[in-house]
Amino acid sequence: MAIRNILKEDQDILHKVSRPVTEFNERLWQLLDDMAETLHNADGVGLAAPQVGVLRRVFIMDFGDGVIEVINPEYVEKKGTQEDVEGCLSCPGEYGITKRPAYVKIKAQDRYGNEIFIDGEELKARCICHESDHLDGIIFKQHVIRMLEPD
Ligand code: ZN
Repeated sequence: MAIRNILKEDQDILHKVSRPVTEFNERLWQLLDDMAETLHNADGVGLAAPQVGVLRRVFIMDFGDGVIEVINPEYVEKKGTQEDVEGCLSCPGEYGITKRPAYVKIKAQDRYGNEIFIDGEELKARCICHESDHLDGIIFKQHVIRMLEPD
């Protein structure tokens, strides 16, 4: 495993649409393992492949009870709304209030290509939306209602 460099929002790659994963091979697993190490090293809750320079539809999340790997996600359901503070490892030190669905459910694939369903509320719902946005070249600040003053 290796820690990869997390790109900042001024890098073009973060504004591009990622391609679906079609091969579930060792190269993908290496990416996933490296992303997990990179996420933990940065003390974040979510990381998308474009943030480490790979334009593939892959993201990971970790809320303290293990890494959740998400490949080729598609929304199945969105319900309600929530507003809360959001930040991004590609925008260090910047936080803003975003409006997101209160509940989301996605269909995706695991590292072997098996179909999986993941759902969540609160932070997990926000994280799923935030990371899915990265796969479409969207940074959370495009959703921000109000940026917070820097500390
Ligand atoms: Zn982000």
